[in-house]
Amino acid sequence: MDTVMDLTVWGGEPETLGELEELLTDLEKTWSVTDRDSLLSRLNRGETPALTDEQRALLEQAQALSDWTGGAFDPRLHALSLAWGFYGGGGHVPTQAEIDRALSERQWDMGGMLKGYAGAACARLLEKTSVRRAMLVLGGNVQTYGSKPDGAAWQIGIQDPAGGDPIALLEVTGTRAVVTSGDYQRYFEENGVRYHHILDPVTGYPSDSGLRSVTVVCADGATADALSTALFVMGLEKGSQFWRDSGDFEAVFLTADGRLFATSGLTLTGCDYEVISR
Ligand code: AMP
Ligand code: MG
Repeated sequence: MDTVMDLTVWGGEPETLGELEELLTDLEKTWSVTDRDSLLSRLNRGETPALTDEQRALLEQAQALSDWTGGAFDPRLHALSLAWGFYGGGGHVPTQAEIDRALSERQWDMGGMLKGYAGAACARLLEKTSVRRAMLVLGGNVQTYGSKPDGAAWQIGIQDPAGGDPIALLEVTGTRAVVTSGDYQRYFEENGVRYHHILDPVTGYPSDSGLRSVTVVCADGATADALSTALFVMGLEKGSQFWRDSGDFEAVFLTADGRLFATSGLTLTGCDYEVISR
């Protein structure tokens, strides 16, 4: 999935880490957009491969998340990401005609939710083992499982887009997905302008919603991941209203001018922030 993954489990059997690795490798093989033999590539070529119940459910969940977010999360922007050159480096600004064509192609890309889904799938696997606690870091996605050995809350850092120490710590307890989408995670520069990888499905351009990052905390990993992408596209105002209307998750917004906002169900430490209330 083109990122570094760091899996820590407490207790359990020695083979559990191997099983997690196998699960992640299988998901990568199935849903990769760059591997021409993946299930996703076959779907994108218009083939009709047999799907397992789980695979069908993931595609349906992706569509449902897109509908729920009014299309801000759009799992069918593969041709657009390709037009921007976001795979394999060497990005470039496409022409308007290229953007229009790419937007009409509707090719699957699960990159906006796959790592969160993978974290949740790992947590489900752990339920069948004797592992009682785990911290799974899949790129910008964190999946906690169970409680910390000392019973204290998990502390998750919110990354500073400029690098270095986290700008805030987020406390969560139990099994949770904590997923961040940020404009600093993948980008290129052309003529002094930065272009990042979270695309606005309306304009076809990198989302220009005034945010640097959005972190979502939710019981379900795939939902957390899709929402982090969607709320980034919506921006602070629309994203806050979306949270008020729907609940079931919490979010932290980091604005371009460096302000932090957190929905009222969260506690941040080590920073100043404003609370978003219902
Ligand atoms: P994330 O890091 O979870 O925000 O996902 C970003 C990745 O999802 C990008 O690298 C693209 O593969 C894909 N993507 C970009 N824009 C969107 C969007 N608006 N909705 C869904 N997926 C997107
Ligand atoms: Mg996401």
